[in-house]
Amino acid sequence: MDITCWNCKTVTALDKAAVEAALAAMDASKLGFHDVACASCGKSNRTARDVFEAGLAAFNAAPEMTKREINQAHKAEKAAKDKAKAERAAVKAAVRKARK
Ligand SMILES: [Zn+2]
Repeated sequence: MDITCWNCKTVTALDKAAVEAALAAMDASKLGFHDVACASCGKSNRTARDVFEAGLAAFNAAPEMTKREINQAHKAEKAAKDKAKAERAAVKAAVRKARK
């Protein structure tokens, strides 16, 4: 799961172990939130227990692809489409130029 820093907007990705550790820490402290330190600026990102529980559920329901991988696949797909489009446009421009 990703935590976006309130201060610098850096996204800190937590793996399943980190989420489990956060939940365990909340169990121990009996608090309903956990502070995630930003990897970039070091500020604490206070995050509600519900968010971690949802994050853990997402890990447990994890399909073969993580959300990040799905996003990357979509991005790659879009980049390929854009490239094909650019190539077609280049061919068209070349044809137009040749006609002149
Ligand atoms: Zn930050």
